[in-house]
Amino acid sequence: MNFDFSPDEQAFVAEVRAFLDEVAGWPDAADIMCPERESDSILADTPARKAFCRALAQRGYLGMSWPVEYGGQGKPGIYEYLLNEELSRVGAPLIGKGVGCVGQTLIRHGSEKLKREFLPKILTAEIEFALGYTEPHAGSDLAALKLRAERDGAGWRLNGQKMFTTSAHFADWYWLAARTDPDAPKHKGISLFLLPIRQPGITIHPIETMGEHVTNQVFLDDVFVADDYVVGAVNKGWTYICEALDYERFTFYTFSPLEQKLARLRALLCTRRRDGAPIIERPHVRRGMARLTAKVETAKMLQRRVIYASTLDRVPSIEAAMCKLYSTELHQEIADFALDALGPDGLIDKHDASAPMGGKWEWSYRATALDTIGAGSSEIQKNIIARRALDLPLTY
Ligand SMILES: Cc1cc2nc3c(=O)[nH]c(=O)nc-3n(C[C@H](O)[C@H](O)[C@H](O)COP(=O)(O)OP(=O)(O)OC[C@H]3O[C@@H](n4cnc5c(N)ncnc54)[C@H](O)[C@@H]3O)c2cc1C
Repeated sequence: MNFDFSPDEQAFVAEVRAFLDEVAGWPDAADIMCPERESDSILADTPARKAFCRALAQRGYLGMSWPVEYGGQGKPGIYEYLLNEELSRVGAPLIGKGVGCVGQTLIRHGSEKLKREFLPKILTAEIEFALGYTEPHAGSDLAALKLRAERDGAGWRLNGQKMFTTSAHFADWYWLAARTDPDAPKHKGISLFLLPIRQPGITIHPIETMGEHVTNQVFLDDVFVADDYVVGAVNKGWTYICEALDYERFTFYTFSPLEQKLARLRALLCTRRRDGAPIIERPHVRRGMARLTAKVETAKMLQRRVIYASTLDRVPSIEAAMCKLYSTELHQEIADFALDALGPDGLIDKHDASAPMGGKWEWSYRATALDTIGAGSSEIQKNIIARRALDLPLTY
């Protein structure tokens, strides 16, 4: 079986790499490309990173898989995957929320007005979105969300609270799920809205996570949204959210950070010494590195299966759940192993100059927990696999 990419796809990767080499010469390159950062989804939250996203747009790298009639290039989704792999390899902001979740959903379900208003701005990287799904009592059980949207003339009045809205502190628009029919079964009374996130009635409070990823609580107090800004049909929001979440699991969890992390750990353990000898010479460290190398290869195969399934023109939900579960937990396992192998030195954090690799592994140990929770926790991925791949009944 040949797992190689086609000559066209390989040429595209070479083109992206050449572009990233150019960016490495930009004065603010260090802000844009941070390979040591401990998060797959580096946000476009500084002027330099926004300028970088606009440069991606100018190169035609945004919306490559969108239909030509909406300004896209009608290319297979694999090009977006290859682009994200290259971006995450150098720790640059990924394409995701706008082009992926919001853009793809609008193309499939949005009104002509919403398509005309938002799609061109997504393609030029002019606007940033925040996704408002989770609430204090609705995370894994997202359909239990309570934020109320009540009829008010030619629109809706929104009241309630969201939790863990990443990007709310710098985004322009809020992609928000609210309950429009409190009497319908819980999956059936939800609608999706688009609203400017900076307006009276919206209050944003930051939440620092243990992995240093900043996310937010958002409070909505009598915020009006006109009917035109309901996405798709009223009370059909659940279907759209599920599609967008599958897309998020597919595009946000790239493979190259795993491969790189292990290569860097290997290099470190080959040179760093404990008790007079390189750490790599310890038998349990060698065994551990061999085990992790095999697992990284497995993660690569799971990622390739997601890509293959997506070429069959269906949402690769089972494959994406397996890949997300396996690769996010493998990130944790590598960090855990690194701390064991490094001994007490591994616990020194980045503020201390003596920390190995600038404190990467201590940070990694804290940060890798986050990706096992965001976009559906590991337990939820297991539920998806049990139900959709194994046809097992729900037991709760
Ligand atoms: C870094 C980060 C960024 C995020 N960004 C966003 C964002 O931009 N927008 C947004 O809307 N949300 C965001 N989230 C929220 C995220 O989607 C939720 O945290 C996640 O869905 C889990 O929900 P919860 O935190 O309420 O935990 P809970 O749902 O309360 O779960 C608590 C624990 O119980 C387990 N559990 C729950 N239900 C089951 C079950 N049925 N079977 C087995 N185990 C179960 C979970 O796995 C977990 O271990 C983000 C989260 C993180 C960590």
